[in-house]
Amino acid sequence: MPEPTTRDHGVGLELSGLTKRYGAATVLDGVDLSVAPGEFMTLLGPSGSGKTTTLNMIAGFVEPDAGQIHMGDTPLVGLPAHKRDIGVVFQHYALFPHMRVDANVAFPLRQRRVPKAEAARTVSEMLDVVGLGHLARRYPRELSGGQQQRVALARALVFRPRLLLLDEPLGALDKRLRETLQMEIKRIHREVGVTFVFVTHDQEEALVLSDRIAVFNEGRIEQVGTAQDLYERPRTLFAAEFLGDSNVLRGRVRSADGGVVELDCDGLAVTAPGTAAVGGTAAVVLRPERVTVLDADAQPPAGHNHLDGIVDDVVYLGGRRRLLVGCPGRTMLVDEMAPRRGLTPGEPVRLCWAAVAGTVVAGDPAPATPEPTRAVAV
Ligand code: ADP
Ligand code: MG
Repeated sequence: MPEPTTRDHGVGLELSGLTKRYGAATVLDGVDLSVAPGEFMTLLGPSGSGKTTTLNMIAGFVEPDAGQIHMGDTPLVGLPAHKRDIGVVFQHYALFPHMRVDANVAFPLRQRRVPKAEAARTVSEMLDVVGLGHLARRYPRELSGGQQQRVALARALVFRPRLLLLDEPLGALDKRLRETLQMEIKRIHREVGVTFVFVTHDQEEALVLSDRIAVFNEGRIEQVGTAQDLYERPRTLFAAEFLGDSNVLRGRVRSADGGVVELDCDGLAVTAPGTAAVGGTAAVVLRPERVTVLDADAQPPAGHNHLDGIVDDVVYLGGRRRLLVGCPGRTMLVDEMAPRRGLTPGEPVRLCWAAVAGTVVAGDPAPATPEPTRAVAV
C-alpha cells in the first residue's frame, strides 16, 4: 500500500523579499508570502504582474536576484529544480505525445526508479483520483483538453510531492469545462492533502478555489486574505477593483477618529470604517449589494449615508437585479437580491447604506482616468 495521504502531507512555504529584475525592469519587488501546510493559495493578478515569475522561482526554473524561499525547513534558492520534489502543472498540457496516459503518469516514478509493480499500482490509483482510470491506454491526442489536463495533474501528483504549483492550468479550456475542472481540482486538493499554489488572472476562479488569495500588482502583493476578507475589507483600491464590482467614492478627509473616517465627496458626506489623514484625499469602496434603494422621499435610517439619484438602467441578472443610478457626479451600481418593487429608468430614488457597509482604502485615490460622465443625447 502506498502511504496514506492526509491533510498534513502538505508542507508550508515561505517567500521573503523575493526580487527579480530583467535588465532595467523590476518584475518582482520584494514579495513576502506565507503558505500554510495543506493550504490552497491562489496568486491572482493581471497579466504581467509577476505571478508566473513567482511560481517559476518556487519550482526552481528561475533564480531570484534577492530573497529567500523555504519549503518547510528547507531553503530552496540554489537547489536544482529536480531536487525540489515539487509537482508542476502548466496551462499547456506538456504531455509526452508518444506515450500513453499510463506511461505519461508513470514518468516521474521511472525517473525516481520506483519498482515497476509499485509504480503501476500508484499510477492506477492516481488515475482513479483524477477520474481517468478507464483511459489509461489512450494517447494524449485521443483525449480532450480537460482530460489532458487531468493527466497532467495525475503526473504532477504521482510521486506524492508535498507542494503542487499550477500555472493557469484551466486557461485554455472553455468556460463550462473550466467550471467542472475547478470543482475537480478542489476535490483533489482535499483528497491528496498537498499544499497548492495556483496562479490565475480570473477572479471568479480564485474565489471558487482558494483558502486564501494573494493579489498581485506590478510585481508586488497588494493584499493576502480569504475571499471574504478581500471582498469585504479590501485594503487598497487595486484589490477592491480587481475582485468584484464596487462603487468608489473619492473625497477629502474631514475627520478620522476612532477608526471612523468622514469624507467630503463633492458635498456628499460619507462615513466609513478605516483610517486616513485629515485634510488629505481618500476613497471609500462600497459593494453594490450593500446599497439599499428607497423611495425618493423616504427617510433613511439613522446613521446611514444617503444619496439621491435617477434610475438610468435596470438589468436582470438571474438571481439579482442590478441598477445603474445616476447621481450628481457619479453613477452608482446597486445590486438587489430581493427587489422590493418594480423600477423603471427615469424614476427618482434615494440610495442609502450603513456607515459600516463601506471601507476606506489606501492607494492613490485620484482617478487615473476621469470617471465616465454620462452623455445625454437629445
Ligand atoms: P504574469 O504571470 O503575472 O502574467 P510574469 O511573471 O510572466 O507575469 O511576468 C512579469 C513581468 O516580467 C512581465 O512584464 C514580463 O514581460 C516580464 N518577464 C518575465 N519573464 C521574462 C524574461 N525571461 N525576460 C524578460 N522579461 C520577463
Ligand atoms: Mg503567467
